[in-house]
Amino acid sequence: MNQDSLLNSAQFIKGVGPKKFQILMQLGIQTTKDLLYHFPYRYEDRRRQNQIKDLKVGQMQSFTAEVLAKASRRARNRRSIFQIALGDEGGRIDAIWFNQPYLKDNFKVGDKVIFYGKISMRKGLQVINPEYELIDEDDASEDTIHTKRIVPIYSLTKGIGQRALRRISYNAVNEFSNVLDNLPEPLRKKYNLITLNKALRDIHFPKSNEAIDAARKRLIYEELFALELTMAWRKYNYKHLHKGIKFSFKKPLVDTFIKKLPFKLTQSQKKVISEIKNDLSSSQCMQRLLQGDVGSGKTVVAIISALYALSAGYQVALMAPTEVLALQHYRVIDKLLKGFKIKMGLLTSQIKKKEKSELINKINNHKIDVVIGTHALIQENVSFKKLGLVIIDEQHKFGVIQRDTLYLKGENPDLLIMTATPIPRTLAYSIYGDLDVSVIDELPAGRKKITTWWVTKKKIEGAYNFIIEQVNEGRQAYIVYPLVEKSKKLELKAAKEMYEHLSKDIFSKHTVGLLHGQMKGSEKDKVMLAFKNNKIDILISTIVIEVGIDVANASVMLIEHAERFGLSQLHQLRGRIGRGSHESYCILVSSSLTDIAKRRLAVMKKESSGFRIAEEDLIIRGPGEFFGNRQHGFNDLKIADLIKDNVILKKARKDAFDLFSTSKFTESSPYQTLFDYYIKQNI
Ligand code: ADP
Ligand code: MG
Repeated sequence: MNQDSLLNSAQFIKGVGPKKFQILMQLGIQTTKDLLYHFPYRYEDRRRQNQIKDLKVGQMQSFTAEVLAKASRRARNRRSIFQIALGDEGGRIDAIWFNQPYLKDNFKVGDKVIFYGKISMRKGLQVINPEYELIDEDDASEDTIHTKRIVPIYSLTKGIGQRALRRISYNAVNEFSNVLDNLPEPLRKKYNLITLNKALRDIHFPKSNEAIDAARKRLIYEELFALELTMAWRKYNYKHLHKGIKFSFKKPLVDTFIKKLPFKLTQSQKKVISEIKNDLSSSQCMQRLLQGDVGSGKTVVAIISALYALSAGYQVALMAPTEVLALQHYRVIDKLLKGFKIKMGLLTSQIKKKEKSELINKINNHKIDVVIGTHALIQENVSFKKLGLVIIDEQHKFGVIQRDTLYLKGENPDLLIMTATPIPRTLAYSIYGDLDVSVIDELPAGRKKITTWWVTKKKIEGAYNFIIEQVNEGRQAYIVYPLVEKSKKLELKAAKEMYEHLSKDIFSKHTVGLLHGQMKGSEKDKVMLAFKNNKIDILISTIVIEVGIDVANASVMLIEHAERFGLSQLHQLRGRIGRGSHESYCILVSSSLTDIAKRRLAVMKKESSGFRIAEEDLIIRGPGEFFGNRQHGFNDLKIADLIKDNVILKKARKDAFDLFSTSKFTESSPYQTLFDYYIKQNI
């Protein structure tokens, strides 16, 4: 069967139809392929059903039983309780649901039902809030699809039950039982992989546990191979198919700039600058990732790279994820480039319409050399006359699409992307696998380790006093909250409300400022400038200051509800202090004592390297959470796990890149199918 038919709407699969299709869309299922790739998240072996008397207390178990009686009541705390008594030949058990009174209409005495849940023991056997499935003995497909086999269990959404989805999935697997296999034969042989057909059938309706394993193996490999093939193609594409700009720069500009800097570049900075310079002066398109921990001095490297491009007569675009950071870059760069006759522009969504259209005009006519901005830069109506270099700061806050959009505003401009989120090497391969990597692996001399404390909210007075001491010594402080405004749903302190309280009651002798994402651009600007110029002693803020902000005199940071932030976020936040020569202190306030919270805060206390922290964070939270929603490749992964399947990832990566190096990879056959199937949909 042709692959294209897999891209037909899932609406036409037997059992779907227009109404169910709307519901499937809620699950992200639009095409037949989406449906086939909506894999079960677990299985239940219903070949032999557990007897009630054999159920193991404390474990997740499934069993079949008959409804003997049912009852609804209210507990003293007004929670509603719905309970049914169940039995089989040898035993009795109660199923209990809290706050789901409507369930009472779902069961009749005499119904046969399959349950799945954690078995407990309290005045007899119980199972609380179990999943359940009513058996329909009149249904001819009962035994073939829903019972007497290893049964797939899917994630669901409102409006569709386990059985309905299972039946649809069963039909899809049968209708598409001869899908073409696009994985190259040699690779399939090499790893002894089963065909796509068999894999799709067995992942949904396996005959044995071994069949599940073999199906998973095939699908995991294929998924990672597709990911890496895309990376390999992207890399090949701009290395060989695009002609990049060969900058012929006039050296004095850069040399003068370096001489005027108030500090000496570190060895690491010099090394990465020379790597970038090599790329710029070659005719290949630069696609380089600059990785360096918080505070390692990436901005100055970016400026020097920009100067190279500028000296060759090109324009440069620098994109940052937040307005506050774009503003700061603008200001820092403006100051450093004073006397260099370089025209700069700042483009964010906050500037006024008229100013904006003037600015866009100037960019278009090359009346501006360096444009610094936020996402506003990638809007449709922004176009450059002679864009030579694109720099993206804090790349992990953007995705591949934004990267590409900015890149496409020039004719094969060189690209430098920067990030402080260090990630384990193998993972870096899969997100940044198409890029060359430069690493700044030292901090400027004289930086001191930041002392980190973890306290409960009872100690908050002490923390405030400590802040006052530091401010009296001439330092500045940040206080960070997870919310801007108080929310009804969450019992959390919020920046606005705490600003009122702290500025009046606690720090009344000092100047307190407030900064959050909902403020207007010009207001944010004012506050940041005042803080930078030491006109504000204590800045109350939210996560808006997470990335990039650079105020060397700030020496204390207090973070409330620290458990609400990811470790890499905490590391980035903490990176706002310890930027000068002063001893710096980070106080994490958290009263949440869950094991995970404790583990994470312990990591923050102990580690100061962003690399180590990121590794721990990744282990604690998993890659999806770790990278946020935007990273290409991660959300799309349906079955592979970049950490657990790392060994396969490495193999798949090698296989994919080999395909490009051993033969000339073009879009024409014999690679056409490979290209269409694996790459086209990923780029
Ligand atoms: P990040 O890598 O986190 O973006 P920045 O570029 O903001 O770091 O640099 C942090 C601070 O260190 C800035 O104030 C910058 O001026 C300063 N800095 C950068 N390079 C050096 C250096 N070689 N020596 C001393 N200070 C430096
Ligand atoms: Mg930075």
